[in-house]
Amino acid sequence: MRKEALIVSACLLGESCRYDGGAKRCEAAIALASRYELVPVCPEILGGMPVPRTPAEIRGDRVVSADGEDRTEKFLLGAGRTLALARATGAVKALLKSGSPSCGHGLVHDGSFSGGMKPGDGVTAALLLANGIAVYTELDMAGL
Ligand code: SF4
Repeated sequence: MRKEALIVSACLLGESCRYDGGAKRCEAAIALASRYELVPVCPEILGGMPVPRTPAEIRGDRVVSADGEDRTEKFLLGAGRTLALARATGAVKALLKSGSPSCGHGLVHDGSFSGGMKPGDGVTAALLLANGIAVYTELDMAGL
């Protein structure tokens, strides 16, 4: 029987797609390949952003980079493309990287670039949730 599709933040699977050129490899995420068809996604790359890139955080209803660039449209583009991929693969769940302005769920950086956090969802996580896709992070995988 075909395995259920699961959207996964590519950096959790070891892909070097983070703003600093690194990854956040998570063995527990990789191990889910035994039960799911993993669909690696980096919304920021799908939004046309390069690796490496200046970090960005959510400030109000915008996403801004540390050097003052408004990246909101790129983040929305990446979120939309991630949702399209979920639709195309039939995925109804996503395992996303915590804290990210794209992928974070429940808590994101507070827009001050000082390491502070605030309640909220990343742009992609919010769009997936609004479209009925269950979102998990590597910090809380209960239910996967
Ligand atoms: Fe990882 Fe998501 Fe950031 Fe891409 S956008 S590097 S998948 S946390």
